[in-house]
Amino acid sequence: LDPPPSVVHAFRAAVARAPGRTALGYFDGRLDYRETDALSDSVAGHLAARGLAPGDRVAIMLQNTPHFVLALLGAWKAGAVVVPVNPMYKSAEVAHVLTDAQVTAVICADRDWGAFLRDTAAASSVRIALTACELDLQTRDDARVLGFERQPPTDDAADLLAVARAGRAAPAGRDPAAGDTALISYTSGTSGTPKGAMNSHANIMYNAERQRTGHPVEEGSCYFALAPLFHITGLVCELAACFANAGTLALTYRFHPGVVLDAFTEHRPAYTIGPSTAFMALAAHPGVTRAHFSSFRVISSGGAPLPPALVEEFRAELGPYLRNGYGLTECTAPCASVPPARTAPVDPVSGTLAVGVPGPDTVVRIIDERGADLPFGEQGEIAVRGPQVVSGYWRAPEASAAAFPDGELRTGDIGFMDRDGWLYVVDRKKDMINASGFKVWPREVEDVLYGHPGVREAAVVGVPDAYRGESVKAYVSLRPGATVDPGELRAYCRERLAAYKYPREVEILPELPKTTSGKILRRELRSPP
Ligand code: ATP
Repeated sequence: LDPPPSVVHAFRAAVARAPGRTALGYFDGRLDYRETDALSDSVAGHLAARGLAPGDRVAIMLQNTPHFVLALLGAWKAGAVVVPVNPMYKSAEVAHVLTDAQVTAVICADRDWGAFLRDTAAASSVRIALTACELDLQTRDDARVLGFERQPPTDDAADLLAVARAGRAAPAGRDPAAGDTALISYTSGTSGTPKGAMNSHANIMYNAERQRTGHPVEEGSCYFALAPLFHITGLVCELAACFANAGTLALTYRFHPGVVLDAFTEHRPAYTIGPSTAFMALAAHPGVTRAHFSSFRVISSGGAPLPPALVEEFRAELGPYLRNGYGLTECTAPCASVPPARTAPVDPVSGTLAVGVPGPDTVVRIIDERGADLPFGEQGEIAVRGPQVVSGYWRAPEASAAAFPDGELRTGDIGFMDRDGWLYVVDRKKDMINASGFKVWPREVEDVLYGHPGVREAAVVGVPDAYRGESVKAYVSLRPGATVDPGELRAYCRERLAAYKYPREVEILPELPKTTSGKILRRELRSPP
């Protein structure tokens, strides 16, 4: 692979190849490559004129909107390091990220600016602010139900679109080099306090190029941004791969199954990637048909366990094959995926679907506690070395030394490899349940629950048990119209799992708690707030 040094380079090459092609599609709004280039140049010129220096951090807290893309390209063209901030974060989480990353500039939705002002009191480093009204580039009425509303402009922040339309030139000589830090990506916090992984431009472009060439779609095709762009998967596999392919990036603010299905019909995308929970929601949405998916060449599921029952349901009812992929923020999204023209096997013993095979320059090892290789089929920690693995965490030398000994990433995931080179993720090391001294991996129990036709989402956790130490408890949400009681689900699992594995308790909730990148939060179920 010989990827361009950065997304800015890939984007500029696309501007040269197809200046009039739509780069961004957002409801009824369209921006072509030439316009997107000029608007983001102007954002870069503004940031430089306000004193932003190369290497300064710019926090971007926006949903999947063209504004996010203009802010991102603008910041990179000004030589900045971007810190994507999840727009659903609460004050304390935002304050943690802003102060930890010592950001110089913030770019957020205008309605979030009040909260940002509060939080920036904690982040005294902030000197530049831009706000965006996310309604500006679209007119569609039904988008308003998603909750866009314009807030009055404020004196202390400039309007992002006005800045973008000011026609400034990008500062000369600031294009990123491959080895520069592109992002400080705070991990999704599924298992604890977010840490900032430092993804370089080379890390991003390697994985974007792997995604583009490993799962080929025609040049100029539409990539649908199902995963949020503030999360590494969306940024790399959707945005960066799309620009490297001179394609159209279709955006819909945030995930809403009905809006997403309409956008599939409108944009006819060839590629998308999202967490399995998004595909569960799409499959359960009233009115979903095969026609919604007929334009797709590649649909990847990544970032969360993919139940085999969902893959089967999708293929049988809706047509496409959901291609599993495994990755972490620390390896800049995927490090293993299912190659084209192949289907992932299911392990006959555990019922787990393989996540894929490691990429060509990527070495995945299964190791014991001392870091020694384990034989095929044996379970151990997954360790990854390759061009997508980051050099460490921002300002956290101890956490970096523990997670990246000799530059190899210790993932904290337990998995195994079969003789044909397929990688299987058993579960997160930390989530193991110890029931009477037996190891129970929640994932295996969840996969069984997903096989029940009434189950929409499932999460399994260990709860304290005076007799067993811990016992297995399942939380599920049901499909619309399903009537199932907890006893029936317990019996269903008991028939299919060893006696120590089946859930002693099943609780039905309307919906399971999730991160905004779509991962089910077992942590919250273990200790309800
Ligand atoms: P934190 O590190 O803060 O707990 P997080 O681990 O959710 O957050 P991410 O980097 O977004 O942060 O997620 C990576 C994790 O997601 C992996 O370590 C793995 O546990 C899980 N994961 C990713 N892809 C898959 C997959 N295909 N199958 C099963 N699990 C997956």
